[in-house]
Amino acid sequence: MNAPDTGSIRHATDSLPFENSFAALPGDFYTRLRPTPVPAPHLVGASTAAARMINLDPSEFHSRGFVEAFAGNRVLPGSIPLAAVYSGHQFGVWAGQLGDGRAILLGDVPAGNPTEDNPTGRLELQLKGSGLTPYSRMGDGRAVLRSSIREFLCSEAMAALGIPTSRALCVVGTDMPVMRETPETGAIATRMAPTFVRFGSFEHWSYKDRKTELKILADYVIDNFYPALREAPNPYKALLQEVTRRTAELIAQWQTVGFMHGVMNTDNMSILGLTIDYGPFGFMDAFDAGHICNHSDHQGRYAYHMQPRIGQWNCFALGQALLPLIGEVDDAHAALEVYKPVYEQKLEALLHAKLGLKSVQPDDGALTDAMFSLLQENHVDFTLFFRRLGDLKIDDPASDEPVRDLIIDRPAFDAWAESYRRRLKQENSVDAERRAAMNAVNPKFVLRNHLAQTAIEKAQNKDFSEVDNLLRILEKPFDEQPENEAYADLPPHWASQLEVSCSS
Ligand code: AMP
Ligand code: MG
Repeated sequence: MNAPDTGSIRHATDSLPFENSFAALPGDFYTRLRPTPVPAPHLVGASTAAARMINLDPSEFHSRGFVEAFAGNRVLPGSIPLAAVYSGHQFGVWAGQLGDGRAILLGDVPAGNPTEDNPTGRLELQLKGSGLTPYSRMGDGRAVLRSSIREFLCSEAMAALGIPTSRALCVVGTDMPVMRETPETGAIATRMAPTFVRFGSFEHWSYKDRKTELKILADYVIDNFYPALREAPNPYKALLQEVTRRTAELIAQWQTVGFMHGVMNTDNMSILGLTIDYGPFGFMDAFDAGHICNHSDHQGRYAYHMQPRIGQWNCFALGQALLPLIGEVDDAHAALEVYKPVYEQKLEALLHAKLGLKSVQPDDGALTDAMFSLLQENHVDFTLFFRRLGDLKIDDPASDEPVRDLIIDRPAFDAWAESYRRRLKQENSVDAERRAAMNAVNPKFVLRNHLAQTAIEKAQNKDFSEVDNLLRILEKPFDEQPENEAYADLPPHWASQLEVSCSS
């Protein structure tokens, strides 16, 4: 099928000043190709916040030019569409070559002033689900509406939670059916990140013994995204150390918001320490440290409590890949050693903030351990527990009721609350101040599976209002939003039947 003729009309999206810095790498790193057009594209959802980042006017969202561009039907001027090659370890096993099997990088556009997190001040735009590429293997190059909506909403929700992540500009639906277990509606999601280079991008060249390409990639990443590391005595060791540090901090943030990625393969690990490649992710409802959110993960390799050590395992895989550039094994080890202390420090800081504690005391580990035991034994709703705990008043036992109601074993809660109160008194904690501080870090709204499911089911019937509604709620996860109280409730019974798997 040919791309619809949009004639000589100039669309606002045409003025996006595209470049493609990745395309300047040697040809072995990617394949240039166009997205495959789709029939009847229509807008499912779009993020105003994401659009603003790249100076795109949100009033364009429903324009034909916007929809055709992000359906992949119209190649934007200046973009150099391509699919990148990478490899990776999947579920702990070397999987060999993977690559962008259904993603197409359009190029990069200006995105505000350079910052430490984004020294280029540019963002890459990538279509996901835009057709076959040389790396599609057994896949069809497509994505279904269900998983595209989940990725779209979760990217924007994570950003609003302050967790490093790729962003999502929009989802465009199409009438083209996509075959999974049953025929489903197809869709294309547009993602944004400074780069989509992964741990697996390095593993790719390393496992092929192609040190020249490995070095080209490492230099590209350092020069563009970690320019400060250029001054280090061994920039490649410094790169490994900095990526390890960011990864450890990222996973501490996941743990404390109850986020489970579901598929922490090395090809899904961002070289920038961003959350990327949203698939069968989940947010913890009833707490269970062993919870496996991905129905396809039979061994529980990516269960909640496994994430910290898998993050470290993945950093080791990156270290192995970078070793030819780093030189000495001891140097690689030294770089990787930061993982544990950084993770522990970040976790401690985040848990202190979640509990409204300002100081660090020697017995705090016992307090948080006891809290996790309480959550585990009573399968307490993770999000509600912390949010309601903020309402606790030091001298008013009745103020415990909302949080206490979540816990079956009331005496166990009372015992823990007593030690918590003692701890609060010790640092002269002030109820109102602490409540405000806790509400600024303990979200009221997270993308629970059942909320996404409701939006998806409506969207499958061409009603996209709930996608938009959820996006607006999740963009302000720490606000009270009394009109949206139902979105902060415990999940309904049917939610426990929901299964998300690698099928997407
Ligand atoms: P994931 O674990 O979902 O990130 O995907 C692993 C690999 O499979 C990546 O290289 C993807 O590009 C590829 N892949 C997943 N789904 C498809 C699909 N429907 N068509 C082509 N490639 C796919
Ligand atoms: Mg992936």
